[in-house]
Amino acid sequence: MTEIVMLTEHFSVNEFRCPCCGMLKPSHGFILSLEQFRREIDQPIHVASGFRCSVHNRQIGGSAHSQHLEGRAADIFVDGWNSYRLAYEAYIVRFLMIPILFGGIGCYPEHNNQSVHLDTRTNPTFWVDRGGVRQYMRDDEFFNFLQGKVKDQIHDKEMAGIDPGNLPGNPI
Ligand SMILES: [Zn+2]
Ligand SMILES: [Zn+2]
Repeated sequence: MTEIVMLTEHFSVNEFRCPCCGMLKPSHGFILSLEQFRREIDQPIHVASGFRCSVHNRQIGGSAHSQHLEGRAADIFVDGWNSYRLAYEAYIVRFLMIPILFGGIGCYPEHNNQSVHLDTRTNPTFWVDRGGVRQYMRDDEFFNFLQGKVKDQIHDKEMAGIDPGNLPGNPI
């Protein structure tokens, strides 16, 4: 039997390990921010990528100075939410909650799992990545962009009589 060691109430150590070597360099601030975010949205969060050693980071084409190398980042997804919705929620929570330190939010609407990159860099950086092509946005641009995407979804789903809090992943 494998013992599951938890980092926080909702996240286990193994979820953040590098998939190639099992290494882990957890950042306290990042893990606590993610846990706080998990509690705020009250949805299970899947970690698609947590810590990466430099070998693994190169293999998957991560940027040379990726926050994943420092353990200060994760690519996450939530069942039933597309990446716009998840990024929007992360943005809102970051804005409203002092203990949440997300400085970097990246939205990946073309990924199959609709993932969002979150990290605790100190200079706020927001982007949308479509098939590897990144568009960086200012704080207010990013918010307006996401709000537009989320509004459309919620409106459509409300019209269809579906709970907007439980949107299906939207293949875009
Ligand atoms: Zn590795
Ligand atoms: Zn990432």
